Amino acid sequence: MTDHLQPTVEERIAQIQLNAYANLGYSPMEISAYFKSVRERIESFADKRPNYLSQNFSTPSGDNPIERDLKARFHSIPTMPFQEPFIHSWLTDVWHYHRVRVYKNEAPAVSNLVLGTAPTGGFNALAIHDQSKNGILIEDGLLYFCRQFCSLISRLLYRQNKGRMEFVNVGDELDAQISANHSIIESLIDTTVDYLVDGFLVPPNPHPLDQDDKDSEVVGGDLMFNGLMTFVIEHELHHLLARPEGKHLLSNVKESFEDLWKIFEKDVIPQVSSTVEKEEVRQIFEDHQEEIYGDYRAVKMVLAQARIDRSIWPTLDGPMVFFHVTELFRWVLLVTTDPERLKLEAQLDGVWLSIAAILHDESHPYPLVRRAGVLEFFKRVDEPFYGILLERDERFIQVFNTIRQSLLRRVKDGAMPKQVSAKWRGSQKALVST
Ligand SMILES: [Zn+2]
Repeated sequence: MTDHLQPTVEERIAQIQLNAYANLGYSPMEISAYFKSVRERIESFADKRPNYLSQNFSTPSGDNPIERDLKARFHSIPTMPFQEPFIHSWLTDVWHYHRVRVYKNEAPAVSNLVLGTAPTGGFNALAIHDQSKNGILIEDGLLYFCRQFCSLISRLLYRQNKGRMEFVNVGDELDAQISANHSIIESLIDTTVDYLVDGFLVPPNPHPLDQDDKDSEVVGGDLMFNGLMTFVIEHELHHLLARPEGKHLLSNVKESFEDLWKIFEKDVIPQVSSTVEKEEVRQIFEDHQEEIYGDYRAVKMVLAQARIDRSIWPTLDGPMVFFHVTELFRWVLLVTTDPERLKLEAQLDGVWLSIAAILHDESHPYPLVRRAGVLEFFKRVDEPFYGILLERDERFIQVFNTIRQSLLRRVKDGAMPKQVSAKWRGSQKALVST
């Protein structure tokens, strides 16, 4: 039974969207004007690139096709008044395409899902649970940013050889590829800094290697991005599937917490001035464990999709690049807004990173810890894919180390921005509870 006095999931999403835009100083009329400008930009792009998405794009036997006419995306108007129509239509298509292939028996959390975007200023998405339908709200610039990032980094990680896609191996081969294409490293940094400063990237951000070109090299980047997007949605779905009971209970969480609490008693509590309540720490620790479990489940779903598509390696690159890019973005944000905290964190590793995230009441464990947690899960239960994930990860470690070196040079040269978009300064929790 639905209580008619309760807002629907669409109404709740609309309220968060309105709050998020209001935080950036947008009135409802200005939101409409912004959507109109997106529409004009995409129409002019579609006129200039009539063959965009016309080739090399397969859909499964006619059902749930992904709309390839960009202008047509504005014909379907979302039921939420503050939802940008273009990305909503695209997200909905891509999600249906994924779910009909991957899910056999759908739980209601899977079939009754409303997807939305808003300038939430959290480098992630939010799960919104409701009795009849569920919602997932994604930070509005995240997908454009990640698409651009995957597209660029794929040109370091893959290459074309006689029309076939090949992988660039970790070590000397990848080093040589990076040296020969160092401008890509700088473009990756520029893309990250632009997102930090502007809060969005202009959609759909095409580049010369997009799909309407015959010698497209971007296929690896597209598969990687699909894997990343599936990962983001499936991670939130993990939270929704746990409702209404709450969390998925992991048998070892109780014991691991007691071990962690011993460290708190011995080494943390004597060092901090504020009181530390055991039950509060337990709550955050359990939430963080649930996040890592959600990451593991999401990677498994990406793997299911990759096996259907016969593209395991590049698709699994999607979630792995997500962890690295989340870490990178956090780093760039802190360099600009809180360099002291960054210096402190740089001295931490292992369990101390988990403790620092708990003490800061972070919604998620730090990306490094999430990545290590997922690898640990796979190591314990899914040995064959553990090796593949580790290989994916090693290549990213190599590329991101180079990115960090270049970034450090920019920091030293005083070439980093002084201001970031207002969206990164707000709190996501405040948007939901206002
Ligand atoms: Zn989560």
